[in-house]
Amino acid sequence: MRVLICGGGVIGASIAYFLGCRGVEAIVFESTGLACAASGKSGGFLALDWCDGSPLEPLAQRSFALHARLAREVEGEWGYRRLDTFGGLAGSRRHLRHHGNSYDIEWLSPSVRVEQRLGSTDSTAQIHPAAFTAAMMRAAQARGAELRRGRVTGVARRGDAAKVTGIEVDGETIEGDAVVIAMGPWSILAAQWLPLPAVFGLKGHSLVFETGTRLVAGALFIEYREATGAIQSPELFPRGDGTTYVCAISSETPLPVDPADVNPDPGAIERLHAMCSEMSPVLASARILTRQACYRPITRDGLPLIGRVPGIEGAYVATGHSVWGMLNAPATGEAMAELIVEGAAHTVDLSPFDPGRLPPLHRRASTRPL
Ligand SMILES: Cc1cc2nc3c(=O)[nH]c(=O)nc-3n(C[C@H](O)[C@H](O)[C@H](O)COP(=O)(O)OP(=O)(O)OC[C@H]3O[C@@H](n4cnc5c(N)ncnc54)[C@H](O)[C@@H]3O)c2cc1C
Repeated sequence: MRVLICGGGVIGASIAYFLGCRGVEAIVFESTGLACAASGKSGGFLALDWCDGSPLEPLAQRSFALHARLAREVEGEWGYRRLDTFGGLAGSRRHLRHHGNSYDIEWLSPSVRVEQRLGSTDSTAQIHPAAFTAAMMRAAQARGAELRRGRVTGVARRGDAAKVTGIEVDGETIEGDAVVIAMGPWSILAAQWLPLPAVFGLKGHSLVFETGTRLVAGALFIEYREATGAIQSPELFPRGDGTTYVCAISSETPLPVDPADVNPDPGAIERLHAMCSEMSPVLASARILTRQACYRPITRDGLPLIGRVPGIEGAYVATGHSVWGMLNAPATGEAMAELIVEGAAHTVDLSPFDPGRLPPLHRRASTRPL
């Protein structure tokens, strides 16, 4: 069996890994660069129970456990570590009277009120997203998978159009037994080829600072009021490699067709830097290593699309993981491999994520052969 995976983000790499564990040949097609998008530019924060009470709960619980197992079993170093997580207030809300505990985090400005413990080493963790995605892909390659540079432009279908037989990549047809769409927000392109619901991109900005060993481990979620009154939700993650990642400032700037064309919005990086400088003198004086933006893949109902493409044999999709794609990649990869190889997922119930629950973006995509 040969599985063609479109998209070399954390979801595509994780599916390839779990297929490799089952002795199945997988080829990942990536147009721009492995983990070039959100899978290389996200926070890499993981939580055991923050999805509890939602349909994501079993996927997140399974994934959190798999992350710990992968850190032990897969070769490579991607900064996996458990940590404490705190919440607080900053910016022009700092005058607010605070209630409850106050945690003293010495690298923050005294004006930042850290009032809540949101997680502990039992329930929260972090990874370096690009390093994790690369390690999963390397581990997949060690089990027979291939990573190919190429832009997928369509799927090939049998004459009656009810079965996929391959994909179109840079003008060439590549044959396979199954095709998985895992192109993050660019999966919307595949809605022209297959009866898939819409997937959108929600942009976020981030900075990576060189902070050395000055910042202790611990994730921070801050509610920050800018001088304009706008509320931002910066997330700060000191990493074990001596860098600190901070993201905030979402925007609805449209997704560019080419992943290589994703750039920060004008002024967004300066606003984020101003926020960081006010929150921490350490960040104010630290060298900035990376200024970047990326898009979360989101769906109309906020849940991912994980499963078979309705009515088209051999076609699958795994995308729309929104803010939890790094967390939920392992259980998604595992369940997709089970679905493709064994006909059903048994580690996680995929029914809440059935792509057929939402209407296809283009109805004609269900019948149109390429
Ligand atoms: C600012 C920010 C912070 C985040 N923080 C966290 C976090 O702390 N924890 C967490 O769990 N999640 C987080 N996320 C969410 C997470 O990053 C995403 O859900 C996840 O990376 C999505 O992975 P993906 O593989 O579906 O998509 P992507 O990473 O977007 O990968 C899709 C890939 O497909 C490729 N591609 C596109 N078109 C084609 C084509 N035609 N042919 C071939 N390849 C193509 C792209 O180049 C890209 O590499 C964050 C997201 C953002 C934006």
